[in-house]
Amino acid sequence: MTARVLDGKRVAASVLDGVRARVEQCRTHGVHATLAVVLVGEDPASAIYVRNKGKRAAEVGIRTLDEHLPASTTTEALLELVERLNRTPDVDGILVQLPLPAGVETERVLLAIDPAKDVDGFHPDNLGRLMIGQPRFVPCTPQGCMLLLAEADVPLRGRRALVIGRSNIVGRPMAQLLLHADATVIMAHSRTADLRAEVEAADIVVAAVGRPELVRGAWIKPGAVVIDVGMNRLPDGRLVGDVEYAAAAERAAAITPVPGGVGPMTIACLLANVALAAERRVPA
Ligand code: NAD
Repeated sequence: MTARVLDGKRVAASVLDGVRARVEQCRTHGVHATLAVVLVGEDPASAIYVRNKGKRAAEVGIRTLDEHLPASTTTEALLELVERLNRTPDVDGILVQLPLPAGVETERVLLAIDPAKDVDGFHPDNLGRLMIGQPRFVPCTPQGCMLLLAEADVPLRGRRALVIGRSNIVGRPMAQLLLHADATVIMAHSRTADLRAEVEAADIVVAAVGRPELVRGAWIKPGAVVIDVGMNRLPDGRLVGDVEYAAAAERAAAITPVPGGVGPMTIACLLANVALAAERRVPA
């Protein structure tokens, strides 16, 4: 079997078309969807992410406010900025690019974001709502994974879904979304005793670890669906996922490539969350 490739670029483009239309619709009601992007310091990867987000946002008509602060910024100064953005009525979403420089209390900063503007969906209030099935904003990467599964018509009800990785921003919310879709969800993590056996039993595998090709292709159950969230840069410059792609593609029914799978979905879903926030500002 050779897997169907789940093309994140194509699905993301169609998500972005929908976002563009929604943003235009908001403008007809006098609401211009606006995302404030807070970047602290000079981390080159973060600078690239922020630039890409700004570019994509502009393409769909979302305005971005860039707040670039020096690496020496204190937690207090950052909290003040977040408070100001919270109070600015025409800011729909606030994104604080992570990681913050060492010395800044990341948790305090993220907690200070108004949950109604938390378009990343990382605030405990939003993660809690997701857990009880009443999401306000669904975190972007897991949201993107679910859209890829839906686009590929992958049945989830009653099927065994394995999520590898238990971070608050990917693994945990992903497991909640699969649970809400009636999958039987197993979570694996760094202390899982036999990862191979878990993968071999899974109908759906979502890998979100950050270890190049940790999941071997030979472990994949024939006909399983593989969503690879991992993005790992090898010393030779190649970008690979957490799954051994070529060998896994021989066995899986469908698989996401890296790059070009989950990555483009994340940013598209972020902008979809900004559109959602703007729609909530449209007068009834
Ligand atoms: P994280 O470091 O916060 O979490 C990694 C998780 O992997 C932890 O829960 C840990 O328990 C688990 N883990 C570590 N070693 C393991 C092992 N040997 N076996 C099983 N589990 C193990 O990472 P994160 O923020 O969730 O990101 C995970 C990966 O996804 C990274 O490669 C990151 O770059 C990538 N990522 C991609 C996107 C995207 O848009 N494509 C978005 C977010 C993260």
